Amino acid sequence: MKSIICGTCSRALDTFSDASGDRYIHPSHFAADHEPAPVEAPDDWRGHCDFCFSDKPVAVLPTNDFIVPHMPDHLSRGDWSACGMCSMLIETGRWERLVKRAVRKSAEFHEIPVDVAMLVITTVMYEALRENIRGPLRPLAEKAGTDG
Ligand SMILES: [Zn+2]
Ligand SMILES: [Zn+2]
Repeated sequence: MKSIICGTCSRALDTFSDASGDRYIHPSHFAADHEPAPVEAPDDWRGHCDFCFSDKPVAVLPTNDFIVPHMPDHLSRGDWSACGMCSMLIETGRWERLVKRAVRKSAEFHEIPVDVAMLVITTVMYEALRENIRGPLRPLAEKAGTDG
């Protein structure tokens, strides 16, 4: 199945389910200033790192769908992608560093100070994520046909 991304900001969209059915929303960690414009991702779309939201992903972390803590209606669907630095932190189990990196990058992006609530929410979110990891990080191949 193809990823659904926002045609305006090219970020992957999450599925939000409520009484009126499924709809697509921006990820909870990305405070968008526009309405999501769901479109099918092109084949070569890589998006952004799902952890720090800044760099291009180089790997994906196979992940089960899970409910995001504090946001019972919010479902994390599918795998999480990770940039080089975030992959390294995941592989070496440095989740605390990863939380700090993600929060700092997000704060930089929104030009707001890092606050404790963001650290707490992100820590809890990653704890839920870790319980739902299905396997080791899988590098994204630069080109098809390199496996074997
Ligand atoms: Zn958008
Ligand atoms: Zn990253």
